[in-house]
Amino acid sequence: MKRRQFLTASLTAGAALVLRSRTLLAAGGSGPYPLPKLPYAYDALEPYIDARTMEIHYTKHHKAYVDKLNAAVAGTSWASKSPDELLTQLDLLPASIRTAVRNNGGGDVNHTMFWSFMSHRGGGQPKGELAAAIEADLGGFDKFAKTFSAAAVGQFGSGWAWLVFDPKSKKLAVTSTPNQDSPISAGQVPILGIDVWEHAYYLKYQNRRPDYVQAFFHVIDWDHVAMRHAEALKV
Ligand code: MN
Repeated sequence: MKRRQFLTASLTAGAALVLRSRTLLAAGGSGPYPLPKLPYAYDALEPYIDARTMEIHYTKHHKAYVDKLNAAVAGTSWASKSPDELLTQLDLLPASIRTAVRNNGGGDVNHTMFWSFMSHRGGGQPKGELAAAIEADLGGFDKFAKTFSAAAVGQFGSGWAWLVFDPKSKKLAVTSTPNQDSPISAGQVPILGIDVWEHAYYLKYQNRRPDYVQAFFHVIDWDHVAMRHAEALKV
């Protein structure tokens, strides 16, 4: 590689890192996008999420999404955009890489958010402004929990259930998406979500997805979700 090409490649990779809207630190790796660092130890969410599932989910599944996203955009001008930006511009992508970016960019962004939705200090209920919004828009916490759980359990096959903020209506809503589709692509701001792919729970819960969804409520980091909600309100 000539010096000039090398510099261009370095600048492009650097710009992608700067543009990447995430608070997590990079964990190395090749290509424009790093695998974000897991914000806790594999066993941090025991007994609700077991260490083995967490390790495989992060080191195999999330990493595979990042690797495939990197492979899809390598050598294209799209590599200078953050994965979040790519997901808001799927229609503009060349057909040759659109599906790969939708699936693997979605997989990367969704999992990065997913890790941050959970904490060993999680559980309980939201407070303050988020609690008030859930009351006003979704009929209160109990009703929200029921609706969200039903969306998670009822998502046919692989996918996600979400609590999103809709910037147009300024309201919260519960939704679900198939595969790795992200609410970001629909112009919504995800503030909470649960991965209901079997790889997220099968080792511990086998076919008992409802038990996994119930366990998830014990590790939801409501302070973080409230922060995302507060940020969404500002946009
Ligand atoms: Mn997953």
